[in-house]
Amino acid sequence: MLQTITGFDRIGEENAFAVLARATALMAQGKDIINLGIGQPDFRTPEHIVEAAIKALRDGHHGYTAANGILPLREAVAADLHKRYNVTVSPEEVMIMPGGKPTMFMSILMFGAPGVDIMYPDPGFPIYRSMIEFTGARPVPIPIREENGFAFSAEETLRLITPQTRLIIVNSPANPTGGVTPKAEVDKLVAGLEKWPNVAIMSDEIYDHMVYDGEQHVCLLSYPSIRDRLIILNGWSKTYAMTGWRLGYAIWPGKLYDMARKLAVNLHSCVNASAQYAGLAALTGPQDAANMMIAEFDKRRKIVTDGLNKLPGVSCIVPKGAFYAFPNVSKTGWKAKPLANALLDEAGVAIIGGPDFGILGEGYVRLSYANSTENILKALGRMDEFLKTKKPA
Ligand code: PLP
Repeated sequence: MLQTITGFDRIGEENAFAVLARATALMAQGKDIINLGIGQPDFRTPEHIVEAAIKALRDGHHGYTAANGILPLREAVAADLHKRYNVTVSPEEVMIMPGGKPTMFMSILMFGAPGVDIMYPDPGFPIYRSMIEFTGARPVPIPIREENGFAFSAEETLRLITPQTRLIIVNSPANPTGGVTPKAEVDKLVAGLEKWPNVAIMSDEIYDHMVYDGEQHVCLLSYPSIRDRLIILNGWSKTYAMTGWRLGYAIWPGKLYDMARKLAVNLHSCVNASAQYAGLAALTGPQDAANMMIAEFDKRRKIVTDGLNKLPGVSCIVPKGAFYAFPNVSKTGWKAKPLANALLDEAGVAIIGGPDFGILGEGYVRLSYANSTENILKALGRMDEFLKTKKPA
């Protein structure tokens, strides 16, 4: 018998990938599937970004780079954050990462251990809890409530902190709910955190470009009182339609930077060199394609919520960010996961059951509206027909 460490009994997964695999397999059998499951833009990476990667390879950038990323890209990240949020970040604080996920992996690994608490949003991105459990730390869910517009409540979050708390994960704009936490609430959270100087914060801001209705994203880097214990997770995947490039960045404070650099050296050495040059072109080149994509998501957001609110037993608040809708399906008579499974098998619509994002996800499903308007309308039609004719066993 192989004797692996026990943490692997506890590590979880992201069901969106399992649904993607099932949807792809059904399509290979000739079934007509509309995939509103996976969270990735349906647009192509803008051409000038692709060209920059090709040029980088032709120019001979095919070797290792520094483990923390090429300097021009780290400078470009710092300049971009300054331009958008008027915050001063040194390129020495920026680390180029192979996607957004590795930043949550590393930060949870740095703080998680038996006997400590790590707080995370529920419903929230499933990898937070998975990694917390892997480390043996106690996962402490921060409830994210529909009646609060799926924003986190500062008061409720602060009440959950204990002397055992080492790390708090926040995510706005949020997956799976599309919730955006208003500035007043973030101000309150930061003020409360000043009383807990030993608690680190990991702010997952991967959807920071995708805020609608005139809302402004609140970047946690704007709060000097927590800068020395703040980790920022961000990247190119969503904003520039680059999920498959595996390119992200982190801002690490103080000594955490060197710990992350060592983890990078041990784990991946460096990020794909040509992808880094592509990321540079994305940040420094024209933003038209990214802006067009976000404007299109905004349009679809209204179409998807209007349509969902017309389905029997379904209600959906208008999400303020990201590209997800998180309708309440508790009055359909279906539990969320059986509903998601039946919709895929019987109606050809892939969505994700809310419980895949946490205990408080029961009664909800997640739809990604990163799909064409035509497909969204077709999927809504199929869901309508399904809910009118099928009842749970
Ligand atoms: N954080 C959140 C909230 C996400 O939804 C995702 C992807 O779905 C990620 C991080 C991971 O991004 P990446 O694909 O760049 O690893």
